[in-house]
Amino acid sequence: MYNKSIFSPNHNNLDSRLRGNDVTRIGVIGGGQLAQMLAQAAAPLSIEVYALVDNPDCPAQHDAKLMIGDQNNPHDVKNFLSEIDVLTFEFENVNFTYLENTYTPIYPPLSALKIAQDRELEKTCFVDNAVPTTQFKITHNQAECRAAINEIGLPVVIKTCRDGYDGKGQAVIRSTSDLETKWSLFEGKRVIVENLVKFDREVSIIAVRSQKGEIAFYPLTENQHRDGILRISRAPYQNPHLQNLAEHYAAKILKSLKYVGVLAIEFFVVGEQLIANEMAPRVHNSGHWTIEGTHTSQFENHIRAVAGLPLGSTAARGYSAMVNFIGELPDVEAISALKNVHFHSYHKTARPGRKLAHATVCAESKKELENVLDLLLKL
Ligand code: AMP
Repeated sequence: MYNKSIFSPNHNNLDSRLRGNDVTRIGVIGGGQLAQMLAQAAAPLSIEVYALVDNPDCPAQHDAKLMIGDQNNPHDVKNFLSEIDVLTFEFENVNFTYLENTYTPIYPPLSALKIAQDRELEKTCFVDNAVPTTQFKITHNQAECRAAINEIGLPVVIKTCRDGYDGKGQAVIRSTSDLETKWSLFEGKRVIVENLVKFDREVSIIAVRSQKGEIAFYPLTENQHRDGILRISRAPYQNPHLQNLAEHYAAKILKSLKYVGVLAIEFFVVGEQLIANEMAPRVHNSGHWTIEGTHTSQFENHIRAVAGLPLGSTAARGYSAMVNFIGELPDVEAISALKNVHFHSYHKTARPGRKLAHATVCAESKKELENVLDLLLKL
């Protein structure tokens, strides 16, 4: 049930005299930690983030203006759109039904979201833009899946084409008996079969494109995952060849989609090659280090892009590492005692597998970074 502006953050009524553009209210569907950090980045620009949420007890509650409503209810969506100048997103799984014929500008474009919602479309987008990706086959039942595995060769990863995130909806298949035991999760679903890439490391590029077509890239980030969830990011990952390659691939996708906002692409590094795994048409967990680790964070640049402002510098300040706290919260006092470590809580109740907070370590050298990171990981 839509309930207009019942919850407001303290920074309401921002000074409109600061504004040089017309966008002062950016709507976000969702009120998670990404909406929270977008709102934190928007406030100094005199821009308010309005979050459409079904539950006011959400990470964005202290920073965004919450609108209680349901994205699947046409009236709630209509009312929400009437309150904002521009709409953006913090997750891919958005219901487009009531967004397609609206006058409210939407950035990034819905076409980019549609692609990112479906692994088949996403892989096709990589192929169409000549961005190297894994081998893949789309299957619709167990027999087709078995045939695809025979063609690609074991080991493979099978993933549901839709609704999978943070390693959910996927399984590594190393033997034919593996397929039998793990199949129940995939029954009745469209499934993508990919070769299991023996990568040297995983990296991501965060890129941003403005409404005028200006493009900026952050330095590559090296990412460590466990159980499909991002645990630690380190940046910059300094490899000029791979940086150029990642920028080249990201630019092709940004231009082909007429993209506006932040786009993240995750790659496997194999020797001197990059193999695209997936992309996210939004600010990304592997870019959280940019809040303290660069001149303009991914959140601020996303806000700038969707508000029609020029982009800010994406250059790194020294070396950074970000640690996700998953399932349980660390001792904030112990974290605060560490030098140049910045803690970000998402105001969530602890639950196994839930991202609750992150901390970013900033350092002037790689050695110092690893020393402090070591201390942080031992807490
Ligand atoms: P995804 O949800 O596709 O990002 O997958 C989560 C994580 O699973 C990735 O970050 C990788 O660590 C691993 N993974 C996914 N697909 C593959 C693949 N084809 N080969 C090797 N590892 C993979």
